[in-house]
Amino acid sequence: MKRAIVVGSGAGGATVAMELQGHYQVTVLEAGREFRPFRAPLSRFEPARRAGLLFDARLTRLLFRPMEVRRADAGLALVNGRALGGTTTLSCANALRCDQDLAALGIDLDPEFEEVFRQIPVTTGHVERWGATTRRLFEILQEMGLRPAPLPKLVDLAACTNCGRCIIGCRTGAKWDSRQFLNRAVNAGARVLTGCRVERILFKASRAGSVEVRGPAGPEQMAAELFVLAAGGFGTPVILQESGIECAPSLSVDPVLCVAAEYPGANQHSEMSMAFASQQHGFMLSPYFDFLSFMFNRAWLHPIGNIVSMMVKLADSNQGTVTRRGVRKTLTSRDRTLLHTATELCIEVLARLGIDRSRVFLGTLNAGHPGGMLPLTAKEAETLHSPKLPDNVYVADATLLPKSLGNPPILTVVALAKRIGRLLRNR
Ligand SMILES: Cc1cc2nc3c(=O)[nH]c(=O)nc-3n(C[C@H](O)[C@H](O)[C@H](O)COP(=O)(O)OP(=O)(O)OC[C@H]3O[C@@H](n4cnc5c(N)ncnc54)[C@H](O)[C@@H]3O)c2cc1C
Ligand code: SF4
Repeated sequence: MKRAIVVGSGAGGATVAMELQGHYQVTVLEAGREFRPFRAPLSRFEPARRAGLLFDARLTRLLFRPMEVRRADAGLALVNGRALGGTTTLSCANALRCDQDLAALGIDLDPEFEEVFRQIPVTTGHVERWGATTRRLFEILQEMGLRPAPLPKLVDLAACTNCGRCIIGCRTGAKWDSRQFLNRAVNAGARVLTGCRVERILFKASRAGSVEVRGPAGPEQMAAELFVLAAGGFGTPVILQESGIECAPSLSVDPVLCVAAEYPGANQHSEMSMAFASQQHGFMLSPYFDFLSFMFNRAWLHPIGNIVSMMVKLADSNQGTVTRRGVRKTLTSRDRTLLHTATELCIEVLARLGIDRSRVFLGTLNAGHPGGMLPLTAKEAETLHSPKLPDNVYVADATLLPKSLGNPPILTVVALAKRIGRLLRNR
């Protein structure tokens, strides 16, 4: 059987591995280690938080290895998963189909989405479990004509304890993440190697022959007949550029800003986050307890149950780059205007909760949906293969998204990766 190397085990990589195993002998190379949820109670860090010892979000990895936080220009904190399961293990479990920009290019993912919804549990049943603050926020958004709707979740409700810790890892296994697809691939014979960072592709004539890998035993080369890069929106462009393949300076990240205030008894941290969303032009609003700001932002020095917070998630302009040296990403004036409009809306929401704007504080500007540096075009609608790539190299992650979504990408990346897997099976 021909060999395929899949780089990365997140939404795209795990899906491709599952689709290809049996047609190819698949090896998944993952830079991170096994994923372990964060188990400690957050109260354990209270003294360090109060003493100001947790002053920089980049310290996150010392507390919780699977979560990587880095800085871009203008202080934007960029978050991604670095462990088996990629960023899906850190997700808030939101399950939206967001392929309108792909459909506009002529890519019809209906069959893939049908299959995705058969394979992954998706529910809005959490509505029954909302706390009083979430219910009131939902009513307020309705009163303001902002058309909030419950967010579908990738969750098995029977196993979900509504603990609110989705982004630091689900301890009960109720939340779907891409390791479930990875397990299917492994049961069918795939190999998964953790702690293996792919540095670049090495060529034989005009085709890829192997990848250079930095693993537990040091540097080595691994050969295959097919290579699928799914190292995520921050990882794949670096591998491509290090291999001499140019990417576009069109990085998007979906910046997130939380607008918060002290509100005794809010208890947003102890129920499923992002219970509902209001979709607006260029951004969405959602209730969200921001763990990153709570741990690292001094404005958030209130008891954990006494903070009410609304999230703005922006569909940012596709402008920015990631290279081996780091991420360059600033917000354009259009992005800033939208962020300002959305922030004012959140302040109005909090005002209707009885909170004066003088008591409002902001979270740390952060982002966790990187992608877009090898955007698909209409010319590639059939092949999903960029002419910049050698014939036997594919990309199958958020790097392919033509525009920022301003919305949760997992299901869309999974559907796209499924299509790529099928195309490769039929090659
Ligand atoms: C806190 C947070 C919450 C989120 N919540 C949601 C949500 O509720 N719903 C939703 O749809 N989306 C959510 N997202 C976004 C979503 O998780 C990502 O958009 C999605 O996982 C992207 O899939 P991917 O395959 O492109 O990359 P990833 O899932 O990030 O996978 C990339 C993998 O490649 C590995 N890798 C990187 N470089 C290398 C290398 N050189 N060699 C080998 N391996 C490498 C990484 O370790 C990682 O495992 C959230 C993101 C964050 C940060
Ligand atoms: S709320 Fe808790 S139990 Fe439910 S899916 Fe999220 S982390 Fe798992």
